[in-house]
Formats: sequence, C-alpha cells, structure tokens
Amino acid sequence: MAADTVDAAIVGAGILGLAHAYALARRGRSVVVFERSSQAAGASVRNFGMIWPIGQPAGRMHDMALGSRAAWVELLTAARLPYFPTGSLHLAYRADEAAVAREFCLVIRASG
Ligand SMILES: Cc1cc2nc3c(=O)[nH]c(=O)nc-3n(C[C@H](O)[C@H](O)[C@H](O)COP(=O)(O)OP(=O)(O)OC[C@H]3O[C@@H](n4cnc5c(N)ncnc54)[C@H](O)[C@@H]3O)c2cc1C
Repeated sequence: MAADTVDAAIVGAGILGLAHAYALARRGRSVVVFERSSQAAGASVRNFGMIWPIGQPAGRMHDMALGSRAAWVELLTAARLPYFPTGSLHLAYRADEAAVAREFCLVIRASG
C-alpha cells in the first residue's frame, strides 16, 4: 500500500469487489482490496462468464444490466481480452418452457 489511509477498503477480489474498486477508482477515490487467496479461486473464475443482460425486469434493472455489459466490453477491449458477441440459443423441450420463452419475447419487445 502506498498510503496509510484510503477512501474505501474492499474485502474480496472477485468480480463484485473488483467492480466496486474499479468504479470508485474511476471516480477518483483511492481504494485498497483485501483478498485472502493468492490467486483467483472464487465464483468469478469458476463459472460460465456470460455477459447476459436478460432476466432483469424492464426499466431500471435492465438498464443497469446494459450499463454493466457496456462496462465489460470497455474493460475487455482495453485489456485486449477476447469476447464473443454471439447472442444465446435457448432450447425449449416442453410446451410450458416454450410458453415462458414466448412470453419473455413479448415482454422484452414491448420494453424495447
Ligand atoms: C454455475 C454458475 C454459473 C454462473 N455463470 C455466470 C455467468 O455466466 N455470468 C455471470 O455474470 N455470472 C455467472 N454466475 C454468477 C457469478 O459467478 C457470481 O455471481 C459472481 O462471480 C460472484 O462474485 P463475487 O465477487 O461476489 O464472489 P467471488 O468471485 O467468489 O469472490 C469473492 C472473493 O472474496 C474472497 N474472500 C472471501 N472472504 C474473504 C475474507 N474474509 N478476506 C479476504 N478475501 C475474502 C474470496 O477468496 C474470493 O476471491 C454463475 C454462477 C454459477 C454458480
């Protein structure tokens, strides 16, 4: 640590901790992140890694998810890390699953 005091201390260097640290640093705040492991080992490096702003209710939450996606793309581009804007394919095996998918399409189209 370069300083004795900081504006914010964050525990955990998973995606949530790092996202908060990044957002604060972008606002000019000094931040320290405490991580108990010597290398990334939490949920953030073990799961699928989809940047997938669906499943959020229309309005504020969906807007926030789109903002999060934009931040990811900005970071990945700056870090020269690959990402694949492929969309996603959802298979409905049963009629009730297809009904949910159709309802989702209606809702999402209506909300833009
Ligand atoms: C199967 C599966 C698939 C998923 N797929 C996706 C996906 O495609 N897209 C997506 O956006 N989300 C996905 N998620 C969800 C996502 O992985 C998690 O919501 C997210 O990674 C949680 O991040 P986190 O920072 O809270 O936790 P973590 O990544 O687990 O980070 C927590 C960190 O805190 C550290 N820590 C804990 N306690 C202390 C302490 N006392 N002192 C210091 N350090 C500490 C840990 O060592 C760890 O590094 C998936 C989840 C699952 C289970």
